Amino acid sequence: MEIDLRSDTVTRPSAGMRDAMFNAPLGDDVFQEDPTVILLENKLAALFGHEAGLFCPSGTMTNQIAIKLHTDPGDEVLCDASAHIYNYEGGGIGFNSGAQAKLIAGERGLITAQQVEESINPVFDWLTRTRLVSVENTANRAGGTYYTLDRMREIQAICKKHALRYHLDGARIFNALQETKNTPKEVGTLFDTVSVCLSKGLGTPGGSVLLGSQEHIRRARRIRKVLGGGMRQVGILAAAGLYALDHNIERLGEDHRRAKQLGEVISSLPYVTSLLPVETNIIIFTLDAKMPSDAFVQRLLAAKIKAVGFGKQTIRFVTHLDFDDAMLERTCEVLKSFS
Ligand SMILES: *Cc1c(COP(=O)(O)O)cnc(C)c1O
Repeated sequence: MEIDLRSDTVTRPSAGMRDAMFNAPLGDDVFQEDPTVILLENKLAALFGHEAGLFCPSGTMTNQIAIKLHTDPGDEVLCDASAHIYNYEGGGIGFNSGAQAKLIAGERGLITAQQVEESINPVFDWLTRTRLVSVENTANRAGGTYYTLDRMREIQAICKKHALRYHLDGARIFNALQETKNTPKEVGTLFDTVSVCLSKGLGTPGGSVLLGSQEHIRRARRIRKVLGGGMRQVGILAAAGLYALDHNIERLGEDHRRAKQLGEVISSLPYVTSLLPVETNIIIFTLDAKMPSDAFVQRLLAAKIKAVGFGKQTIRFVTHLDFDDAMLERTCEVLKSFS
């Protein structure tokens, strides 16, 4: 049994998904002639209440295209200090858009409308122009926390009031929707642009879709090409996304259940000092001083369980499509055997 709790990106496409990929009708997507890509883009756009979609190789690219769309060089993006766009996209805000981030100290990765309003610069020639607000749902580094619809709406109202653009990094938006039971449309229509990842909980080998207005997506297509993200018969990958929309959304609840069960066991371990509340599929916990995270990861590896440190004493586990109940049981056994 091979157990991998490093990320929900480690999943391999199922037999059904591979069949769908194998049989997908294809064309050259740079000429906008791949019927499978077009189907996926339109399906996701309709689902989230947007006019159009753009299939991209990664969530980093969909986020970075959105930032480029909404900002001019020198502009400022407001986001939580733990945001993926700031921490895990290689400094892309500066590299790609010549813009900068103003970081907000949110609570477990979630920011408030009041914090956003307090962070907006007044309009003076010498002040950085605040242009874009980006929220992450679920919030990865913060342990898979999610926004309520009201909280996202309150931020939208501030964006409208101050003529700011509003972007959703929805790498794990379906995990959030699983818990809140909101429809994709209720959430999607609050934002100017939405990034949805297919390679996380949805279990495809790759791909993310950026959603927005016709005009935004027309410009986004050009930016994608500049970034080197124009792919050809990529319906072979989009087919995996279509398959995932039909088969892998409802089951996200299982990942959340297993994460909660794992969290319960972890919180009872003598060498664990704290555990963040488990809200979706991410479990973040801190080990006591006698158990540095490197040593802990090595011990897990010896028991054929892969995990990664998230800091000197901190560990993150992520549950996913390829982590089943037998693996959950085995992981709990191994964790309890350490002291
Ligand atoms: C994974 C992730 C992304 C996109 O990452 P890629 O690896 O480039 O697809 C964006 N935002 C968040 C919050 C993520 O977890």
